[in-house]
Amino acid sequence: MSKSLQAIRGMNDILPEQTPLWRYFEGTVARLLDNYGYKQIRMPIVEFTELFKRSIGEVTDIVEKEMYTFEDRNGDSLTLRPEGTAACVRAVLEHGITGGGQVQKLWYIGPMFRHERPQKGRYRQFHQIGLEVFNLDGPDIDAELIIMTWRLWGELGIRDAVKLELNSLGTSESRGRYREALVEYLSAHHDKLDEDSQRRLKTNPLRVLDTKNADTQAVLVGAPKMADYLDDESRAHFEGLKARLDAVGIPYVLNPKLVRGLDYYSKTVFEWVTDKLGAQGTVCAGGRYDGLVEQMGGKPTTGVGFAMGIERLVLMLETLEQIPEEISRQVDVYLCAFGEQAELAGLALAERVRDQLPNLRLQVNAGAGSFKSQFKKADKSGALYALILGDDEMAQQVVGFKPLRGQGEQQSIAWDALAAHLATCVVQG
Ligand code: ATP
Ligand code: MG
Repeated sequence: MSKSLQAIRGMNDILPEQTPLWRYFEGTVARLLDNYGYKQIRMPIVEFTELFKRSIGEVTDIVEKEMYTFEDRNGDSLTLRPEGTAACVRAVLEHGITGGGQVQKLWYIGPMFRHERPQKGRYRQFHQIGLEVFNLDGPDIDAELIIMTWRLWGELGIRDAVKLELNSLGTSESRGRYREALVEYLSAHHDKLDEDSQRRLKTNPLRVLDTKNADTQAVLVGAPKMADYLDDESRAHFEGLKARLDAVGIPYVLNPKLVRGLDYYSKTVFEWVTDKLGAQGTVCAGGRYDGLVEQMGGKPTTGVGFAMGIERLVLMLETLEQIPEEISRQVDVYLCAFGEQAELAGLALAERVRDQLPNLRLQVNAGAGSFKSQFKKADKSGALYALILGDDEMAQQVVGFKPLRGQGEQQSIAWDALAAHLATCVVQG
C-alpha cells in the first residue's frame, strides 16, 4: 500500500478482535468509578497550545519535544492534548464548577498524543483513563484514589504483577528549599553528570533524580534527600496517606527518586509499575497538584489525580492471560432461514424475540446460502444455539432449536414460546 494510505507511525487501529478486551477493561473501570461516586467529564481533544505550556511547564519533556502543535486557519496555535489534567482544569474553571470550594470528583477517557519513539507500550496516539479530584486536600482522598486502583487490579486479576511506588514532593516551599540544596550539591559534581542531567540541572533539577545514567546515579547516592526537607504539613499528610494504605493492607515501596515528569505536582506522587511489560513499566501514575489551579488563573483549589495507560493495561491482561472467557463469545443465538418465505418469517420472529429479550445476542443470517453454509456460519459465530427455519418448520409454525456446543438434541419450539424458551437457556449479559 502506498505510504500515504497507511496509518501514521505510532498511531494504531484497534481491530475487531481486540475491541472486546478494550471494552471489558473500559467497562470494568467505568463501573468501579461510578460505584465510588466519580462523574465523567468529556473535554475536546484540541486545545490552545498555551494551555499546555502554562500547566505542564515549559521545560518538561512533553512541552519541549512531544507535542503535536499546529496552526489552524485563523493562525491560532493549537495542540492535540498530550494529557488530560490541563484541559480538565481549564474546563472546571471555565464553567465555575469548583468555585466556592465545591468538591468535584471527575474522570475522563480518551486518546492522548505525544511525539515519542514508538515501541511496545509507547505510542504516539495512546489512550488514558484519568481522574481528577478538586477541593479535597486531606490524605484520605489520595488514599481513596490508590485504594480504588488496587481494587481494579484485583478485579482484573493483575494485582500480583503491579507494585506501588510512593513519594512526597512536599509543598512548593519545601520543594523549593530542597531544589536549592540539590542544585548546590549537583553543581559541585557538574563534570560527573551526563549531558542530559547537566541540562536539566539548569531547567528542571528534580528531574535529574530519575536519570537512567549510571554515572549520574552514582553521584546521586550522596545527594541531599527530599524527605529531610519536607515541612511538617507535608510530612503529616504523607504519614496520613501511609496509615490509610496500611489500614487497608495495600503494600507500597517508598521511592525518594520518584518525581514525575510534569511540573505541577506537590506532596503525594505515586506510580503503579510492573516488570511484565519491559521498559514501559508504568501503568498508572499520578499525584497531588495543589498549586495548579491557581497557577492557571483560578482561586486556590487543591487537586489530586492520576491517569492510567489503556494500551499498557490491555497488554498486561494479554501477557498474564487474564482474559475472561465470556468476552470472546459475541453471539448467543444464530438464526438460519432457508427460502424467501422463511427469511421473512425469520426477520419478524427475530424482532419479536428482541422485543422480549433486549439483551439477547441474536444474529440473523444474512446473504442466504445453503443449509451447509449457513450452519457453518452459525458454528463459526460462536453461538450456543442455532435456530432453523425451513419448509417443515414454516408449515408447523415452529423453529428448530439446535444446541451447537454439545449437549442435547434438536427440538421444535413454537414461535410464540421461543422467547420464553431462550430465556431459560441463555444467560444474558
Ligand atoms: P512514561 O514514563 O512511561 O513516559 P509518563 O510519566 O510520561 O510515562 P504520564 O504522563 O504520567 O506518563 O501518563 C500516565 C500513563 O499514561 C503512563 O503511566 C502510561 O501508562 C501512559 N502513557 C504515557 N505515555 C504513553 C505513551 N506514549 N504510550 C502509551 N502509554 C503512555
Ligand atoms: Mg513520558
